[in-house]
This record gives sequence, structure tokens and C-alpha cells, in this order.
Amino acid sequence: MHRKKRVLVTGGAGFLGSHICESLLTKGHEVLCVDNFFTGGKENILHLRDNPHFELLRHDVTFPLYVEVDEIYSLACPASPIHYQQDPVQTTKTAVHGSINMLGLAKRIKAKILLASTSEVYGDPARHPQTEDYWGNVNPIGPRACYDEGKRCAETLFFDYRRQHGLNIRVARIFNTYGPRMAVDDGRVVSNFIMQALRGQPITIYGDGSQTRSFCYVEDMVEGLQCFMNLKSDNPGPMNLGNPVESTIREIAETVLRLTGSGSHIEHRPLPENDPVQRCPDIGRARQHLGWEPRVTLEEGLSRTIEYFRTVLNKERARPPF
Ligand code: NAD
Ligand code: UDP
Ligand code: UDP
Repeated sequence: MHRKKRVLVTGGAGFLGSHICESLLTKGHEVLCVDNFFTGGKENILHLRDNPHFELLRHDVTFPLYVEVDEIYSLACPASPIHYQQDPVQTTKTAVHGSINMLGLAKRIKAKILLASTSEVYGDPARHPQTEDYWGNVNPIGPRACYDEGKRCAETLFFDYRRQHGLNIRVARIFNTYGPRMAVDDGRVVSNFIMQALRGQPITIYGDGSQTRSFCYVEDMVEGLQCFMNLKSDNPGPMNLGNPVESTIREIAETVLRLTGSGSHIEHRPLPENDPVQRCPDIGRARQHLGWEPRVTLEEGLSRTIEYFRTVLNKERARPPF
């Protein structure tokens, strides 16, 4: 029997956050979901609303928060390039001020705190695959910097609160994750390609499609994050979490076309500035310390995600016009 905990999930109405809330509730914990609904939405957590162990608070983490919990999953931050570049100053504020507030909170109430950091701290990596001891290759003044440098500073703050105030921290570097409840309009490659295929629109490959990413299914990621949080030993990370199976963007397009049976054709668009050429995690540390590795294959994960987007699309079509 494990002890029932009170857990704060910031960004809990987002894609990853909503799955974490759900999983924690299933395990019998109390969940406080905090979100300002910038990119997340109530529809992601609607099914949790009637659970007496679930509470939702509309709040922006760049402002102080006074609550009492045992653990904090700090996820609040827009994650897709089109969202985080919409208001880049707010993105940096969320990553930096938001982290300071959550760390201040964790310090006062002596809670364990996990940062959802990102593979973007490696920038356009000069080392491949990326191990945690690689310091990265980030353009500090480019269009992705608000997010990349924001998360790098958040990591600095987490480690300094640990060194200076003895906080129990976990820094997880999350690699591209996909699955049900990704926002339809968030511009990320998996959601774009699936929606384009289902709507019979052209599949937009940026550049020649030879750039790579490694895609992890959300269920595997949520398990990895919880394994890391629950680790008994004092291990702050950083810890890469992701699927080490690397694919080119062209391969993703072809797989989505095959699995949806879509007749969409491929169109090439210009590659965005500072778009990393290659990305693949070395998850040796997570395998060794957490005994964790992803289990869901790309085909299986994409099939489940396609089913989700089909439902979203059907709801959209069923909605009466104004
Ligand atoms: P998401 O956009 O679906 O979720 C982010 C949530 O944070 C949203 O619900 C949004 O409304 C909320 N939010 C944003 N700013 C806020 C603020 N100032 N105060 C309160 N809430 C705020 O994105 P996601 O994919 O679920 O990402 C969750 C976390 O994981 C982010 O921190 C992201 O950087 C990190 N991450 C995700 C991925 C991925 O592939 N999904 C990869 C690396 C890191
Ligand atoms: N903070 C918060 N909730 C708390 C405690 C602190 O939001 O329960 C915020 C507070 O706004 C503060 C920040 O966390 O500015 C950092 O707190 P810390 O104690 O580290 O520093 P200080 O209060 O000295 O600025
Ligand atoms: N991408 C693409 N077509 C799209 C959306 C994205 O070719 O419609 C490419 C993008 O240029 C990048 C990769 O897919 O090389 C992953 O993009 P995403 O925004 O999902 O994540 P990130 O770049 O943050 O890893």
C-alpha cells in the first residue's frame, strides 16, 4: 500500500498535465490542477471534474501561489513552437518567474518538485544521441530562445534551490511526446500531419523532411515522469525521458498517410529558423536509475492518436453552424 499524497500539477489542463492528473487520481492521490488555460483547456479534464479528489484552480504561475501539497509537477508552460512564440516574453516569464514561485512554494512547504524540462535545452545538438552531460547548442537570441533559454534558466533555478536551500528536486528532460489530447491547432508535427491526413489536406513537410525527432507515446512518458518523482534515492537528474527510436519527418508523414489511409499528398514548406537537424535521447540513465523505458511502438501510438483525432474531427463536424 502506498501513502496517499496531495499533488499539485501546474499546467494540469494541458496535454501531458491532464494525463498526469488522471494517472495520479487512478492511483488514489489527491490532485490540485493549476492552469491559466493559455494552451490547455477544460475539455482535457472535464472527465475528472466529478472526482472528489480532483480540484481545479485557474491561476497563472507567474504570480505567487499559496497551497499545501506533498509534491509538485511543474509543467505550466506552452510547449509547441507556434504557441510559445506567440508571446515570447510571457513564455520566458512562465519558465523563470513560474519556476521561482513554484520553488518558493516547495521550499516553504517542504514538497518534492519535478520540472518538466525539455530536450530543447540541447538546442541544435552537436552531439548525437544526446546524453545528460551534453551542455547544448542554443542560439540565445533566436525565435526559439524564449523557450529553450527559459527552460535552461529554470533548470539553473532548480539546481540552485537544491544547493542553496536543500530542496528535493527532479529535473526531467522530456523529448517529443505525442498522443491523445494534443491540441489540434498547436502546429506540432504529429497533430499537424494527422489532422491534415484526416481532412484530406496536403501534408506540410518543413524542409526536405530529413531532419529527425524521436517520438514517445504519452502513456510511456507519464509513467517515466512518475517513476522519476517516486524514486526513493536522492537523484535530482537531469534525466532524459523519451523514446530512443529516431525517425525522419518524412517517415512520420509516410506512416501517418499509411495508417489513416489518406489520399493527401506531401507539400514542402520552408524550414523554420533554428529548427534542430537531429534529436534522439540517450536514455541509459533512465534505464539504469528508474528501470524505465518506453513500451509503445510508433505505429501503435500513432494509431491510438489517430483514433483520438478522428473523434475530435467528428465532434467538430457534428457541431451546428452559428
Ligand atoms: P501544453 O501546452 O498542452 O500544456 C501546457 C499547459 O500549461 C497548458 O494547459 C497551459 O494552459 C498551461 N500554462 C501555460 N502557461 C501557464 C501559466 N503562466 N500559468 C499556468 N498555466 C500555464 O503542453 P504539453 O505538451 O502538455 O507540455 C507540458 C510541459 O511539458 C511543458 O512544460 C513543456 O515544456 C514540457 N515538455 C513537453 C514536451 C512534449 O513533447 N509534449 C516536450 C518537452 C517538454
Ligand atoms: N512563493 C509562492 N508560494 C509560497 C512561497 C513563496 O508563490 O508558498 C513565491 C513568492 O512569491 C516568492 C518566490 O516564491 O517571491 C520565491 O520564494 P523564496 O522564499 O525563495 O524567496 P523570497 O520570498 O525571499 O523572494
Ligand atoms: N514539422 C513539419 N511539418 C509540420 C510541423 C512540423 O515538417 O507541419 C517539422 C518541424 O520543422 C520539426 C519537426 O517537424 O523539424 C518537429 O516539429 P515540432 O514543432 O513538432 O517539434 P520540435 O521542433 O519542437 O521538436
